[in-house]
Amino acid sequence: MTQEQTLSIIKPDAVSQNIVGSIYHCIEKAGLRIIAAKRMQLTQQLAAKFYSIHQDKSFFSELITFISSGPIMVQVLEGKNAVTAYRTLMGTTDPKQAAIGTIRARFGTSIDQNTVHGSDSVETAQEEIKFFFSICEIIS
Ligand code: ATP
Ligand code: MG
Repeated sequence: MTQEQTLSIIKPDAVSQNIVGSIYHCIEKAGLRIIAAKRMQLTQQLAAKFYSIHQDKSFFSELITFISSGPIMVQVLEGKNAVTAYRTLMGTTDPKQAAIGTIRARFGTSIDQNTVHGSDSVETAQEEIKFFFSICEIIS
């Protein structure tokens, strides 16, 4: 068990449903600590940069349009095995396949509108945290 940090995004569908607090409650109940947070809206250009790994996928354009369509909440989470722990808490990409009790199963409506993002590895987490936060904004 190692202490890790991971990047979490509460996506526009969840922010517009006004369920940020419910998702924060799930995160804290899972033993993860929110050590940085901000509300923002991505431009299409920034969204394309953030999700550039998917630039050749058929769903890229819809993904960029959706993630930049409204305000998001961005968090750094810290805890034991935070990357895997948060991915488990989120559930699978498609909310219809996600395990009962996961955030996506509870609040997601479709594979596009799946409420949350989480880094998929420790290395990706470090890159994604740097993308959104300066070192003085993260209070461990
Ligand atoms: P995220 O990166 O947002 O945490 P993820 O890691 O579970 O999600 P990825 O494979 O990285 O899934 O896909 C990024 C996002 O692209 C997904 O959250 C989803 O909204 C969208 N997406 C992925 N696969 C599809 C698909 N087959 N059709 C439509 N949208 C998709
Ligand atoms: Mg991903």
